[in-house]
Amino acid sequence: MKWSRESGMQQMLADIGDEVKYTRDLIGKEALSDRVMSAMAAVPRDEFVPADIKTLAFDNRPLPIGHGQTISQPYIVALMTDLLAPEANHVVLEIGTGSGYQTAVLSRLCRTVYSMDLVPALVDSAAARLSRLGCSNVHVRSGNGYAGWPENAPYDGIIVTAAASHIPEALVEQLRPGGRLVIPVGLPYASQELMLVTKQGDGRTQVREVIGVVFVPLLDIQGVHKE
Ligand code: SAH
Repeated sequence: MKWSRESGMQQMLADIGDEVKYTRDLIGKEALSDRVMSAMAAVPRDEFVPADIKTLAFDNRPLPIGHGQTISQPYIVALMTDLLAPEANHVVLEIGTGSGYQTAVLSRLCRTVYSMDLVPALVDSAAARLSRLGCSNVHVRSGNGYAGWPENAPYDGIIVTAAASHIPEALVEQLRPGGRLVIPVGLPYASQELMLVTKQGDGRTQVREVIGVVFVPLLDIQGVHKE
């Protein structure tokens, strides 16, 4: 069958819906919010993957984006976005810009999106792509996400798209009371849990383990990436 964005997108949305149903006992719902699914439907994933694998762009799986990194599986992007519970007036922070795909989804759902990545080349290409696609409410920069982006804090939500070894204190600090942090925590390429951390009014956190996931690691030491 000939590839088309439209049929690919329909398939992707159906696959996300199916996987949400398979995992309903873990994630605690039958379907993700309509707002989140509309944002998924509005962002052309084929614009975020390398040209030679465009025909795979709507497959429900992660794909390589260079620099040893991946664009996350659509179901996981949708699930993490739903867990973040973004609202139109929210200011959110993403750690791990990568291709900018998750950033673009968030840009449709929030007032402002800040996103940072350790790899400057990925930040540059994501910034160019996001501006070409008209995502004018996003700001990207390079830097180590373990420290967050304190200048714009507090955030209504923070989403981390690489697996951290622990819940970074700086990110909890940069959340407003009532804010949510969605973060995979665990060992590199193994045994990670997607966690929803909610900061309460008294500053303490509530942690819910949602589902087992596999992410590339959130790297701890700046400069370990070789290009
Ligand atoms: N959200 C991305 C997925 C990116 S994969 C997308 O939709 O395409 C994870 C990203 O985290 C990679 O781009 C990697 O460079 C970045 N990363 C790894 N360690 C990091 C750190 N300490 N700080 C910021 N970004 C980091």
